[in-house]
Amino acid sequence: MDRFDYDFFVIGAGSGGVRAARVAASLGARVAVAEERYFGGTCVNVGCVPKKLFSYAAHFRDDFEDSRGFGWQLPEPTFDWPTLLANKDTEIRRLNDIYKSILDKNEVTVFEARATLAGPHEVQVGDKRVTARAILLAVGGWPWVPDYPGREHAITSNELFHLPTLPKHMVIHGAGYIAVEFASIFARLGVEISLVFRRDKVLRGFDADVRQFVTTELERDVRLYREDDIQKIEKNGKDLCVFLKSGTELGAGQVLSATGRWPHTANLGLEHVNVRLSSSGGICVNDAYQTDEPSVYAVGDVIERVALTPVALAEAEIVARALFGNENTQLDYQYVASAVFCQPNVGSVGLTEEQAREKELDFDVYISTVKPLKQSLSPRDERALLKMLVDRDSDRVIGLHIAAPDAGELIQGFSVAINAGATKADFDRTLGIHPTLAEELVTMRSKRT
Ligand code: FAD
Repeated sequence: MDRFDYDFFVIGAGSGGVRAARVAASLGARVAVAEERYFGGTCVNVGCVPKKLFSYAAHFRDDFEDSRGFGWQLPEPTFDWPTLLANKDTEIRRLNDIYKSILDKNEVTVFEARATLAGPHEVQVGDKRVTARAILLAVGGWPWVPDYPGREHAITSNELFHLPTLPKHMVIHGAGYIAVEFASIFARLGVEISLVFRRDKVLRGFDADVRQFVTTELERDVRLYREDDIQKIEKNGKDLCVFLKSGTELGAGQVLSATGRWPHTANLGLEHVNVRLSSSGGICVNDAYQTDEPSVYAVGDVIERVALTPVALAEAEIVARALFGNENTQLDYQYVASAVFCQPNVGSVGLTEEQAREKELDFDVYISTVKPLKQSLSPRDERALLKMLVDRDSDRVIGLHIAAPDAGELIQGFSVAINAGATKADFDRTLGIHPTLAEELVTMRSKRT
């Protein structure tokens, strides 16, 4: 008779939790998962997937406009929000079922309930107390709204995916990737957008040239209130009045707070174990994702390393394989590629110019702004930015940043080369595919002086 009810108890069936449970079960572990809200977690339900579906919807506006330059004559297209919402919901339900069936097929015990820690090897799940040899916290994050009068009138990305009607005017608070994506998306779906943020450029943490480029592109469709902040929100009947610190007053049907996310660690029973939290409530782990309590592990957004789905998946797989497959690997966070699905998209991998300077590296910068061929016949004037950082000693490409149509797709392929240690000479030796935008990346010859 085994001492524990399970070998592995996973709290949270989001990106990280489902991956860890599936891999552990496939390696022969007796696994249980608790999920209190939705299978697939943030990414599937209120994150990457519905956001990307909205982004496709938004893109049609540009496509309809572009098509005129290529000879198409269409009646003025109209957009129906309830159709998009209903189709999105059907797709999300399909994905929820797939995630649940992954667990069922792997004979993982599923508790559709909230779980909390009750001890180093004990979990309270619903009204049951169970024991496990190892416990994984894969509880993700939760949107955070700053503390100002009237904050209860603001919605977050969680609610945005279920709005019954689209407002005429929406104020978006924040300038991170989620704020920028939604500003770009909803402006194309016909909503007047005002973006309020504290700095002078959007996308803090991205390369400064990319930030400048995206801020300028965004300004074509969105009103920007830079170096400003929300002071309070008042509700007058159905309408909201947003007061900014600068004294500006904005009327809005909705205010979206995209001001950041916090680790979802409140009331998790952490007082029953020896787990350390960071000042922002994230769970502190070592390189093996183990907390100070040896039987308790954590992965994904809750550990505040890189809050992206593929990162949560990779961390989860590492934990499951180490515990039940005796394999020890480590994740290299340096060349994790990412995309921002604004228009045009941003794709990024490796160091920004600012990070390379902070590290006191000796590097060259290759940068160009081009007009994609497609735009030559389009009434729109969308440009693309390509930037590459090359280490002078090794010739290695240490950073690549693209703001261009489908940059998310482009950067994925280039990130393979960069992870493999590609040098500038490798790029230069590679013949381009003509005519494409990506060929620019193998024909960049002039260093920025
Ligand atoms: P989650 O996926 O959040 O899963 C945590 C799960 O735990 C949830 O289902 C929750 O209900 C459950 N849970 C929490 N506490 C308990 C408890 N006590 N008991 C039981 N269950 C519990 N990433 C990308 O890579 N690309 C993108 O384009 C992208 N877009 C995004 C857009 C938005 C609007 C947002 C909000 C996020 C986006 N992300 C994107 C980030 C991505 O969604 C997260 O990095 C990823 O979901 C993290 O996975 P996780 O397993 O850590 O947590």
